This record gives sequence, C-alpha cells and structure tokens, in this order.
Amino acid sequence: VPGKQTNPAVNRGRGELALIRQLRDRVASGIVSRTATGVASRPRSALRLGIGDDCALLRLRPGEDLAVTTDLSIAGRHFRLDWHPPQAVGHRSLARGLSDLAAMGARPIAAFLSLGLPRELTVPASRRNSLTWMSLFLDGLLALASAQNTPLAGGDLAESPLAVADIVLAGAVPRGRALLRSGARPGDLLYVTGALGGSAAALERLEKLAGKIPKKLAFAVAPHLYPQPRIAQGLWLQRRGAATAAIDLSDGISTDLAHLCEESGVAAEVDAALLPIHPGATLDQALNGGEDYELLFTARPAMRLPRSIAGVAITRIGRILKPGSGQPGVILLTAQGSRALEPHGWQHFS
Ligand SMILES: [Mg+2]
Repeated sequence: VPGKQTNPAVNRGRGELALIRQLRDRVASGIVSRTATGVASRPRSALRLGIGDDCALLRLRPGEDLAVTTDLSIAGRHFRLDWHPPQAVGHRSLARGLSDLAAMGARPIAAFLSLGLPRELTVPASRRNSLTWMSLFLDGLLALASAQNTPLAGGDLAESPLAVADIVLAGAVPRGRALLRSGARPGDLLYVTGALGGSAAALERLEKLAGKIPKKLAFAVAPHLYPQPRIAQGLWLQRRGAATAAIDLSDGISTDLAHLCEESGVAAEVDAALLPIHPGATLDQALNGGEDYELLFTARPAMRLPRSIAGVAITRIGRILKPGSGQPGVILLTAQGSRALEPHGWQHFS
C-alpha cells in the first residue's frame, strides 16, 4: 500500500530488493487471480506462476496461439514528467500493450513490466508527501490491469538517467483465428469503435494547461490520459468471426489505415461525414491525432454488426477498394470532393 511507509530510513535507503518486494506485495494483494479460496468465478488463469521465480509460467488452453507484444514508453518522448500524472503514465503504458492484444482479438493473460527510473522517482517527493512517483505509476497500471483481468507476472527494475517503462503483454487466441491486418478484401466495409481525435484534442488542452489540470477539466483530458483499450470489442469480433482484418489506432487513422491497406494489398475510402469525431476534436485530429486506441476493422458487407459492442459505439466509416495502380492507397471523401489521405499520424525517426 503506497503511503503506509512512514519510516524515513526505509524510504531513503530503499534499494532495488525492497522496491521489488513492495511491487510483489502489491501485486499479490491485488490482482493475481490465484485464489486460495477458489471463490473467483473467473476461468482458471493461464498464469501458473507469477512474480518470485526466475520466470513466470503461462499455460495456454489446448488449441490456442500465444500473442505477444511489447511497447516502450520514454520520458520526453511518450510522456512528460511535468504534464502527465504518474498514474496516467502507468495506465497508458499498459493500455498501449492491451490495445495491441485487442486488435488481434486476443484475451490478455499476463503483463511484464521493465522500469528504468531516476532515483528521485523511487523516493517520496517531500516530507509531507510520502508517496513516490513509482507507487503512483503502479496505482495507474495496476488499476487497469485489474479492470482487464491481466496479472502483472514479472519484470525488471533498474536505476536510469531517464524514466523508461517497457511493457510486454501476453495474450491467447484460438489457433489460426487471430484478427490480422492482412485479411481485408475489396468490397469489405470499414468500421471504427468509439470516437476519434479525443486524445489529440485533450493533449492540446494539456499543453495549454502546462500539465496543471483543474478538477473540472479532468473529464476533458481523460481521453489522452486514460485511454480505454478495446479488449471486449476485439474478443467479440474474434469469437464471432465478424471481422476480416483489424488494427488498433495508435498513430492516427491516416497512418494506421495505410498499414492495414498495405498488409492486405488493398486500397480504401473514408467518408469524412461518417467519422465519429470526439466532441471538441477537429477532423484533422480525428484523422491524424493518434493515441485514441480505438479499433479499426473491416467486415464483409453481408455481416450484420450491432450499433455498439460492450457499450462502445461501432461506426461504419468507409469501404475497402481494389488497389489502383498509381492511385493513392487511401481516399478521403468530403463535401468538397475526394482527395488522397496521406499518412500524417505519428512516426518516429521522421
Ligand atoms: Mg498496434
């Protein structure tokens, strides 16, 4: 429990072992689904052995593939220590990995966290405030882990000049049935979950506020600070065989749709009038903003899809076309006519 550590000697000299013990205690008390009483109604966890041994042990059900993804979050690149509350940094680190599992239609089974932190983030900020940045980071990460039934099964901790969080997610999906980027065919319809541009609009707000978030504006910055990975929606699509291809919107629809088209060897058109733009966001933010972590997927035209899945809206936004020689891969239809939708989302090293 963060904040219960009142002995200043312990706080000042907490070494790596003590920090790991603290982490392990929190995980054991909170979210590992290994229950002594057996009262949990949840199906038996694929995690057979968590933190404490040299490796975690995972056991898939017969006929399952293991889905693995890794995501790196670096201070100054993916988050700012002066803008992002530590809880949000923890939440976002895990949300990015979970969103990749959602895009494959995989059920999360375990998370692994490697943290590199400057020493000052592992000790209390002041005498009056005994909470450390690291414990608040874990608050955010473990709250989402718990909500998504994803046990933290291991990791590593090191002192580092820069705050770095690397998360590895393991998931399970029926063999050969994962949702891929490569399955879209001409004639398929194009859909998104939720609303687009909310994260970019919230980030703009956060910039203006320089990270000082008044309570009454917490809701407005939530899409950026606490994006919700669409695990339930990905599982729904996978179990019903409803989607032909899927990708999660991490970099912006203009970039992520280009990825899907490239992997499927197709083109696509998006109707701007159909886009579910987040309240307060612009068309540009909806197309290029990134970090919405919604799912973009395709389905056969005959496939009947509900208006919402597990409380999240499903919106048709366009369709898949045959690849045209020399033509742009993605076309945006607007009231002014059609134009190429160039990938203007986030790209590292560009
Ligand atoms: Mg992804």
